[in-house]
This record gives sequence, structure tokens and C-alpha cells, in this order.
Amino acid sequence: MKGMTIIMSDCLFCKIIAGEIPSDIVYEDENVLAFRDIAPKAPVHVLVIPKLHIKSAADITADNSNIAAKCLEVVATIAKKEHLDSGFRIISNSGPDAGQTVDHLHFHLVGGTKLGFIET
Ligand code: AMP
Ligand code: ZN
Repeated sequence: MKGMTIIMSDCLFCKIIAGEIPSDIVYEDENVLAFRDIAPKAPVHVLVIPKLHIKSAADITADNSNIAAKCLEVVATIAKKEHLDSGFRIISNSGPDAGQTVDHLHFHLVGGTKLGFIET
């Protein structure tokens, strides 16, 4: 798993990982990338993604759940860095009913204000 990256050529987030599309990166390590959402729904709106192409939360398995866990560790790290001490929300849309628009697993980290209903 160490440093494993499988790039899908037709995936927007794989292109961001490869540096082919610019992004406002807030965190990067060998397994995880985090960057600011291009259409923020809150003062802090960061997308935390595995570098491994996993389609959605529905595709988390015993073989790749360690990477999903790493993403959640990064969420906590960024929440501290962004001073979200009074709270934040994690959203992961999976599939059409949830409105997933990019088929690469991502965790929306939103915060920085009192949160009401958010459609991400
Ligand atoms: P979802 O609708 O849950 O699949 O989330 C996809 C998110 O990706 C949306 O919140 C978009 O605003 C965001 N997004 C799309 N393109 C980009 C981009 N080039 N850079 C940053 N965020 C993006
Ligand atoms: Zn991808």
C-alpha cells in the first residue's frame, strides 16, 4: 500500500493528483491529497481524497479500508490546522441518489461557521 497510486486517465481527481489540473492543495502525503473545493459551501470546504482510485464509499473493502482511514486521519489534522475547534462535518456522497458528481472517493470537510443543511 505504501505510496500506491493508480491513476485513471478519465478521472478529474486522478488528474488533480497527477498535477494535470491545478488545485489549491492544503495537505499531501504518499497516500492522501487534500485541496480546497472549487465551489465552497462553507468558509472551510476541503476535499480529502485517497491517491488510490477508489470509486466511492461503496467500494471500500478490507483491501483498501486502510487508505480510507488515512483520509479520516487527514480530516482531523486539517480540522486542527484550520482551527475548526467548535466543530465540522464530513460528507461523502456515494452514487447518483447522493448526488456524487466525481467518481473518485472523497470526503468533504466543511466548517468554519454554524452549519445548517448543506447540499454538496
Ligand atoms: P460530489 O458532488 O460529492 O461528487 O463532490 C464533488 C466536488 O468536487 C464538488 O463539491 C465540486 O465543487 C468539486 N470540484 C469539482 N471540480 C473541482 C476542481 N477542479 N477543484 C476542486 N474541486 C472541484
Ligand atoms: Zn480517480
